[in-house]
Amino acid sequence: MEKLIFTFAVGICALSLVSCSSEQLDKEGQSVAPSAKASRAEEAFPNQRGEVKTAYFFGQKIQYQQIGGEAVFDSDMLLLPQDLEEGSGIKTQGTGRSKASSRWPNKTVYYVIDPSLPNPSRVMDAITHWEANTNIQFVPRTTQRGYVLFRTGSGCSANVGYSGGLQYVNLASGCSTGNTIHEIGHTLGLWHEHTRADRDTYVTVNMGNVLSGYESNFYTYTQQNMDGFDYQGGLDFNSVMLYGSYDFSANGLPTITRKDGSTFTGQRNGLSGTDISIINSMYP
Ligand SMILES: [Zn+2]
Repeated sequence: MEKLIFTFAVGICALSLVSCSSEQLDKEGQSVAPSAKASRAEEAFPNQRGEVKTAYFFGQKIQYQQIGGEAVFDSDMLLLPQDLEEGSGIKTQGTGRSKASSRWPNKTVYYVIDPSLPNPSRVMDAITHWEANTNIQFVPRTTQRGYVLFRTGSGCSANVGYSGGLQYVNLASGCSTGNTIHEIGHTLGLWHEHTRADRDTYVTVNMGNVLSGYESNFYTYTQQNMDGFDYQGGLDFNSVMLYGSYDFSANGLPTITRKDGSTFTGQRNGLSGTDISIINSMYP
């Protein structure tokens, strides 16, 4: 086994042309970080992968990972148990999620910030940013049935779209205001920008460089049987919902590049012009 790990490490060093030592492998040879360039996007449970499970999500057969009692989709989106059915159960709504039902009524997000959440100003700053730039308004919840609770989590994660009941944005201490802006994007119903159905026109996904267990993060929403739409104008390289080129890299080589092979960052400073246009088209 030692020999295998060593061979693996040497292979990575040769490929990535960076300085590399065996100290960068942990005991199991799992958490490989051979290059400072490897990065990670938002995760519900950092560095944890779970059992891959299949279920029906509003009639569509999808896969997710079971981690810590949660159904994790695309690393930082959590699927609600009541929306998942085992076996061949087809929900009465028919196939595919109705887009209208996954949107917050009246462009209004009711929310609660858990009093024990450290640094709640990152939530208020993210909310202020969304309100200043889009049609969405955030109102502290009183008795509404559908609302989002911002609370402490093991990573940064959120349920995607309006659920009609209690849903969450989970924030570890390391989740920034920019990460919170990203997670609220999921709350409002956004997928990751690189999972657009037409993304192969704009980017190349190098699946061979992706950390084992994270491959599904790089599938399009159609490949994952999820409902969705591609907003006009093509993939937005400035979207706050985009992964960076080195996110979830196993070997320090890019997981996603532009078609010309060049790399890009997944900015978390704030909404792009296109992010704003998409949300305002979903919530006119
Ligand atoms: Zn995300």
